[in-house]
Amino acid sequence: MDHDDGSYDSVSYSPAESVIIPPAPLRATSVVVHRPASSALSYASKRTGLVYDARMKYHCEPISGDDDLHPEDPRRIWFIYKELQKAGLTEHEEDSEADRQWKLLRICARLAEPSEVALAHSIDHYKWVQRIAEMTDAQRRNLVKDADSVYFHPTTPFCARLAAGGAIEATRAVMTGAVKNAIAVIRPPGHHAEHGRAAGFCFFNNVGVAAKVTRKDFPDTCRKILILDWDVHHGNGVQQIFESDPNVLYISLHVHKGGFFYPAGDYGDESHVGLGAGEGKNINIPWPRHHMHDGDYIHAFQQIVMPVAYEFNPDLVLISAGFDAADGDTLGACFVSPNGYALMTSMLLTLANGKVVACLEGGYNLNSIAVSALAVTKILMGEKPAPVAVPGPSVDAIQTVQKVIKIHSKYWKCLYPKSSSVDLESLGGERLHDILQVRQNRRYAEQHMMYPLHLPLGGSDSGVDPGSFSDQVTSTPGWRKAQPLLIIFHDPPDTIGDPHPLTGAFDPHNIVVTQPSEPYIEWAVHNKFSVIDVNVPRYLKTMEDDSSTGELSEEDRTNATRDVASAIWENFVSVSEAPDIFLIGVGGAYAGLISFLNLAGETVQQRVSHIFAFAGKHALLPVARPTDDALSLWYFNHSTVFAAREHCIFDGPRKIRKKYGRILRTDANSVIEQLLYQKEQVLARMREGVKGEEGTGGEMKTDENPPPSAGIRKLEISTPPEPRLTAGTGSSTRLGSPIKLPRMGMFGVTGSGH
Ligand SMILES: [Zn+2]
Repeated sequence: MDHDDGSYDSVSYSPAESVIIPPAPLRATSVVVHRPASSALSYASKRTGLVYDARMKYHCEPISGDDDLHPEDPRRIWFIYKELQKAGLTEHEEDSEADRQWKLLRICARLAEPSEVALAHSIDHYKWVQRIAEMTDAQRRNLVKDADSVYFHPTTPFCARLAAGGAIEATRAVMTGAVKNAIAVIRPPGHHAEHGRAAGFCFFNNVGVAAKVTRKDFPDTCRKILILDWDVHHGNGVQQIFESDPNVLYISLHVHKGGFFYPAGDYGDESHVGLGAGEGKNINIPWPRHHMHDGDYIHAFQQIVMPVAYEFNPDLVLISAGFDAADGDTLGACFVSPNGYALMTSMLLTLANGKVVACLEGGYNLNSIAVSALAVTKILMGEKPAPVAVPGPSVDAIQTVQKVIKIHSKYWKCLYPKSSSVDLESLGGERLHDILQVRQNRRYAEQHMMYPLHLPLGGSDSGVDPGSFSDQVTSTPGWRKAQPLLIIFHDPPDTIGDPHPLTGAFDPHNIVVTQPSEPYIEWAVHNKFSVIDVNVPRYLKTMEDDSSTGELSEEDRTNATRDVASAIWENFVSVSEAPDIFLIGVGGAYAGLISFLNLAGETVQQRVSHIFAFAGKHALLPVARPTDDALSLWYFNHSTVFAAREHCIFDGPRKIRKKYGRILRTDANSVIEQLLYQKEQVLARMREGVKGEEGTGGEMKTDENPPPSAGIRKLEISTPPEPRLTAGTGSSTRLGSPIKLPRMGMFGVTGSGH
């Protein structure tokens, strides 16, 4: 049946009647789309273009029965058109001029010229496609056997040229300013068609041909094109055609499954970044599995697509808009919602002054592609995406995005973290960590005369390269003297970043470096303590691997810290006359300090006055030895472990064992806040230089929900009153507090023996 809009029901078309049909003019040909852009016409008043030509339905699988329909079904474009019609977005004859301003402007498809197709394909390939029309049915059936997932019909060459011509005309209308943007509802799809080969239901690479023609016809206004491919399959054809082209950036998000999803192999993996001048201009974001959803796609857009697109700064954006990642498509088996497509479209519209053309690729659930295409069209026309919450990205998406960023960060300034490749080092690249350490060492040297301590670490259990700690351990010159000694083990400086709102880039000017343990050192030096400062980096050069590219596992880092602590003890502390020794472990570095204490001999127990641990939410660790019960008791009596208010150790009614130390629950949750707000207590304790038994033991019990006043009443750490406590007295440390309370307060966790 011939519809009044010029479309046809697919059932009305009989393949047996097939002939090559010349491009008959449609009703919409009266629309002039080749007019030059009027400078008086503002962007907002321009309309969105629509390419739809019912004749593209002619190409169909001739032998298909009703129960075995090929997924690349002619009705695909008709379902989308019907959906747009139902939404009132298509024009009608009775529409007034005012009505039409709110509707899609119909753009006529036409047959792509051989010379246009030949910009993206070999002439041989063009001729091969043309010959399909002249073959007998038997010849075409034979051809299918050797082809890669394509079927042939007498109208195939006609429809393939019409689809490519539709993509060209949609793009041309956008470039001339006849429309602000456009959607081309075209088939057969194109993104699998390679330079000399049809594949994956595709004959001519519609988007590829349109990009080539536009670059040729608009050399001054269209220098760079972004092709964004959200079809669930990798667009191997687009990648191949533009692999060496620095002016066409191809970004594809697709299910890859390690190369076991069409088009199989490694061509769609993240390592294919482009060739020659086009290196870096091909970005594959290969999902390792199906079932990816809006949150995964939005994550990739926010982390890679948009930052890179802004940096590339295209003059035109072409979307290879397959809808086979849509919820409901069993072939793609992903869950992208219409709103997900709307969000991606609205982000892309912020590029290239809004010059965006969406060209249909795959998508095989007729309802899913219809509602998805409608969602995209509405955004193109100026609607805003619905304020619907998007789920967070899956672990697989986060890891995939990280992997891609690592590879592409060397091509794009906006992508972080930069991979510490040889290339970067040859560019004078240096880790921020190392730069900061040099700066801190210089400052400590100038302010406190602190200099690096050289540790003979060779042959240690952790396999730490001695050189890797050479700049991490610094000391005041008086470490041998008979004055209190503070040894502080801390994590590298924290960086607090404020990324660029558009590109997401972290630039040196918007990163702030914090080192909240510094005031402790200043105080100690001022109070005539010796200080040994140990920065525990998150990466180390190890004996096995001197590439220093990877981050240390927590276990390796703990072991390395333990060995460094042992070396400091054996080589420096053991020959120091310091009467009082205080150890501070901060954040992740606390684990290494505990590991050291677990090996500590009697001299450590005799000489260490107190251990302060700023654990935050880090796992609390025991100091215990099977053969030495006294060790845990000693640790309990000589430690203060600051645990975050929301630390999981306070969950449930279980008692906390003494081997975890004397735990204090702070109002603060982060290590940084703990360092800030517990400072006065820690300094007060050190000021007194107290050394001795600080409690009589007993099982620890947590106060589940103490009133604020309990924090004051049970305050444990303070300046003790006279007389000074001495070793072995067993005196209680529940003491009055003459000092000012910290802002965040402190909730005591007392031993039940008190
Ligand atoms: Zn597809």
